[in-house]
Amino acid sequence: MRRRDGYAALKTELEYPLTTVPEPGTAIPLAPRMLWVRLPVPGALRHINVWLLDDGESWTLVDTGMNTAESRAAWIGALEAELGGRPIRRILCTHHHPDHAGLVQFLAERHGADIWMSAGEVAVFARIRACIEDAAVADERVAALEAEGLAVGDEMRALVRFEQYRSRTSGFPTKVEPVADGDTFVAGGRDWRVFILAGHTDAQAVLWCERDGLLISGDQVLPRISSNVGIYPERADRDPVRSYLESFDVLEELPRDTLVLPAHGNPFVGLHARIASLRAHHAATLEQVASLLAEPRTAAEVATQIFVRKLDTLNTYLALGETLAHVRCLVNAGAVTQLDGAPNRYVAVS
Ligand SMILES: [Zn+2]
Repeated sequence: MRRRDGYAALKTELEYPLTTVPEPGTAIPLAPRMLWVRLPVPGALRHINVWLLDDGESWTLVDTGMNTAESRAAWIGALEAELGGRPIRRILCTHHHPDHAGLVQFLAERHGADIWMSAGEVAVFARIRACIEDAAVADERVAALEAEGLAVGDEMRALVRFEQYRSRTSGFPTKVEPVADGDTFVAGGRDWRVFILAGHTDAQAVLWCERDGLLISGDQVLPRISSNVGIYPERADRDPVRSYLESFDVLEELPRDTLVLPAHGNPFVGLHARIASLRAHHAATLEQVASLLAEPRTAAEVATQIFVRKLDTLNTYLALGETLAHVRCLVNAGAVTQLDGAPNRYVAVS
C-alpha cells in the first residue's frame, strides 16, 4: 500500500462530473447561487475547496482557507470582487483544522460575520488554546506523545506545542454559534441539514442539501486520499477509528447519485464506492497493526512499519496519531492489550 505524507492514496472508480476546476485563489459557479472557491495550502495537500452561498443581500461561507499571505491576498483581492460588494454574514467551519478555520477570525472581523461551528470543535479549540497559553498543559501534551514512543526533538516539540498551528490561524474565534446534528438552515436559496460526524476530528459538521443532492463533506470523505484518523491529546474521542466507521453508516443512507463536495480534490459522484474503499483501507490497517503486534511494540514502532517512507516532522506526528488510533481500536475490541511499564507497549491477545 502506497503511503503519502501520512495520508494513504487509494484508488476508487469515481465520476468527476465538473470539467472546470478553479485555480487557487479564484472562484467558479458550482450551482445556482453557489460558488466553488479554491485556496492554496502549503505542503502535499496543495489546495482546499471552500464554498460561497449567495443569500441575496449577503453571503454564507463554508470553511475559510489557511492563514497564509496568499489566501489573505485572495480574500481581499480576487475573491472580494466575486462578492459584488455584499458582505459575508455567516461563516460555518466544518472543523478546527487550520486549512478549514485558519482565516475565520480575519474574515469574521472584516465582514462582520457570525461564526458557526459544532460545540465539539469549539471544545478542541479551547484545549489547543490552553496548550498554547499554558506551558504546563503543553508539557503534558509532549509527555503524552513521548509515552507512546515518539522521539520529541526541537522541531517536533514546536509542532506538538502548536507553534505551527498558531501561525496558520488568524486567531481563535471570540464568539461562536453552535451548530448541532439535525439542525437545518437556509443558505444559497436551499435547505441544508447538518450532520455532526466524528473520526477525522471530534465533531465535524457535514452539510446535506436533499433537494439538489449536494453533500459538503469537509474532510470526512475525500476522493483520492484517506483522511487522517488519529488520536491526539486535545481530542475527546478515544476510539476515532470506530467513530469514523460509524459515520459511514450515516452517510450510506444518502442517495447514490449524491454530488460530494470535498475539501480536497474535485467534486465527485460515487459516495458509496468511496466509503467501501475507505472501510477496506481501515480494515486492512487494523489487520496489519494486529499482526505487527504479535510481538510487543510501541505505537511509534508500529508506525515506522506501516509508514515505510521517510516522513517529515508533521507526517511523523500524523502517522503516530493514525497508528495509535488503530492500536486503541484493537485494544477496545479486546484484540490487543497494553502492557505495564513505560513507554506504552502493546501486544496482540493470542
Ligand atoms: Zn481536517
